[in-house]
Amino acid sequence: LLIYYNGEFVPKSQATTSIYDHGFLYGDGVFEGIRAYNGRVFKLREHVDRLYDSAKAIALNIPMTKEEMEEAILETLRKNNLKDAYIRPIVSRGVGDLGLDPRKCPKPNVYIISQEWGAMYGDLYEVGLTGVTVAVRRNSADALSPNIKSLNYLNNILAKIEANEKGGDEAIFFDGNGYLSEGSGDNIFIIKNGKVYTPPTINNLKGITRATAIELLKDMDIEVSVENLGLFDLYTADEIFVTGTAAEAAPLVKVDGRDIGDGKPGPITKKMIAAFEDITQNSGTP
Ligand code: PLP
Repeated sequence: LLIYYNGEFVPKSQATTSIYDHGFLYGDGVFEGIRAYNGRVFKLREHVDRLYDSAKAIALNIPMTKEEMEEAILETLRKNNLKDAYIRPIVSRGVGDLGLDPRKCPKPNVYIISQEWGAMYGDLYEVGLTGVTVAVRRNSADALSPNIKSLNYLNNILAKIEANEKGGDEAIFFDGNGYLSEGSGDNIFIIKNGKVYTPPTINNLKGITRATAIELLKDMDIEVSVENLGLFDLYTADEIFVTGTAAEAAPLVKVDGRDIGDGKPGPITKKMIAAFEDITQNSGTP
């Protein structure tokens, strides 16, 4: 497997970086998670746009154009002969002496990792995932906005640990005001009486799969409302599904021990999963 590193391709076993990279020392950097299906990259421009937006938000200048970044991502797949893959571009502040000041780092480092990838949750797409609401908060008031896909995922990791301890598949975040936020690595949708609801993206990641799901639902003439939601809405939903590049569209059938609907993936969720499979198999950048 070859890893892209600042314009070169390096074998995985030799792909090492400096411990002085501020990405490692301070989590100072940004990343993306992208999928390729059938040799085509799904929503490439959207992911590259978000990578540059994340970088902008932390005042990090990515030392290449968006077109060059897209080409580097596609070239990484070609070099590795990958068709169904997960791709992880990372841009770190780069190497500098100890000390937080980013001015210590003259040059950002650009890494692109890719690997073969299938369905993340295996047979859980049919059975459904269990969710656990967590005490860790996802806060839009933090300097570290949930909109930035930064190398600092400790918040999400703590949520995952909490969910793991309680025996759930995915953690569900609320924000400091008690509004529903998102999962540890995916956005969340609730269905009640045939209508779909999802929180606004002020307190969660502006998910590219979320945006795709909203479009697909509208195409299927299913009403979608973007509004603030609470714990009660979650517990009393008829159906819940989550969306993410890695998770795709996946049903959530239990939350904190309560069955959602009848505890099985519901009809709108199943339609969503089918529509998402169709669009990922039939679009993307070759
Ligand atoms: N929320 C978080 C915290 C994530 O890390 C991800 C994954 O990228 C998502 C949501 C889903 O976003 P997307 O659909 O763009 O992958």
